[in-house]
Amino acid sequence: MDHSSQVKADPRRAVPAVDRVVEALDAAHPELPAWAVRAGVRRALAEARERLAAGGVAPEVVAQIEERARAHAADLAGPHPARVVNATGVVLHTNLGRAPLAPGAAEAAAQAAQHYSDLEFDRERGRRGDRLGRLGEKLVLLSGAEAAFAVNNNAAALLLALTALARGREVVISRGELVEIGGSFRVPDILERSGARMVEVGTTNRTHFDDYRRAIGPETAVLLKVHRSNFEQRGFVAEVDLAELAALGRERGIPVVEDLGSGTLVDFSAAGLPEHGYAPSRLRRGADLVCFSGDKLLGGPQAGIILGRRDIVESMRRDPLARALRLDKLSLAALDWTATALLEGRAEREIPVLRQLLEPAPQLERRARALADRLEKVARAAGATQTTVAVLPERAPVGGGSLPGFALDGWVVALRSSLGADALAQRLRRASVPVIGRVREDALLLDVRTLLDADMEWVETAVAQALANVSR
Ligand SMILES: *Cc1c(COP(=O)(O)O)cnc(C)c1O
Repeated sequence: MDHSSQVKADPRRAVPAVDRVVEALDAAHPELPAWAVRAGVRRALAEARERLAAGGVAPEVVAQIEERARAHAADLAGPHPARVVNATGVVLHTNLGRAPLAPGAAEAAAQAAQHYSDLEFDRERGRRGDRLGRLGEKLVLLSGAEAAFAVNNNAAALLLALTALARGREVVISRGELVEIGGSFRVPDILERSGARMVEVGTTNRTHFDDYRRAIGPETAVLLKVHRSNFEQRGFVAEVDLAELAALGRERGIPVVEDLGSGTLVDFSAAGLPEHGYAPSRLRRGADLVCFSGDKLLGGPQAGIILGRRDIVESMRRDPLARALRLDKLSLAALDWTATALLEGRAEREIPVLRQLLEPAPQLERRARALADRLEKVARAAGATQTTVAVLPERAPVGGGSLPGFALDGWVVALRSSLGADALAQRLRRASVPVIGRVREDALLLDVRTLLDADMEWVETAVAQALANVSR
């Protein structure tokens, strides 16, 4: 075979050798660690070969290898997850880590992480103790439930509930509640994995009491309700109220389980937020079991919180799956702190999610004006005379699969620059502490609701970095 024609036929041969790119990067970026440089180069070369095989233009692809390798290496060398400033106004932003922990909760987790602890140790008797006993007791005190339990996350809580209650039997659910949350959580898939058989009732938009009643048979183990966390139905719609469903369940001796998604142990309705997710009220309306996430409206760590009838909680606790889905000690420590703060009435002051949700609009406006003043000075100092800074009222959703269709009135700082909003947003994402805002038309909006203490300074730094070298 003619070797030279093979060389010509395969454009991937244009890709340089690993060592050559590594040498070049080491020289240009001595701050990057060797292991990350090598890994970044390998990845950039593999990508280049793929792009060439897909018909990429060789000189162009090759010219980008070094920069891509640098970006990969820098990304790998840094911590993950890395801190960012959430200026989106979306309090529970799934991509930005949902609820930030209160400093006290973070400190409790750090203590549990750094030291030995009495995680499963009875100090009084000097023998094995209960991992979740104290947390369970606090959750019971907060909710009035008969019993409580917690696992790794809410998806795990639902999987465990369905496994313990309905494996090999039937679960009745409305077609309007077969929800998907962020692609990786779909109610029908969780149901299938639990070993239960799904019995769908009603239609997408309307489900009636009789639909549930007729679906109940000797194999029915659970009547399941799932909160529509991330969408709303309007128009010609009907669903069966929890209280009605609970009455049906009681009459037929079938447990009613509700996946609340985002639940709270504080009733926010007096402060103007919908009371839907207030878990104790769902129990009072007759649910036998409710489950919800720890890191949504509760404002704690990732966890799946389970409240309900003692016998059901007990059967979940005893299920072999419970061990596989258990809460780790760091989350347990943070959740225990959160429960204590709620019991002591400190939660609304100390839990960032609650503080942000309840912050009054006039105070947000004052903070937005203060930020705008600082950013105007930054723009002037950078000589970016065509950059304008305005303060506007704006609404933002709560996010995190909480309170769909509900938006909070807030205030934003709107930045307009000759760079254009998208380029400005990208520069802010590349700042030493990245700032994530929202682009709307030609403006980049920075919402002050989700700025935590000390974030203001990072916003200033990021804007200064972004506007450096913008002449006009
Ligand atoms: C968010 C959500 C889940 C998943 O909870 P995780 O804690 O993320 O596992 C499940 N069900 C509903 C209705 C949700 O909103």
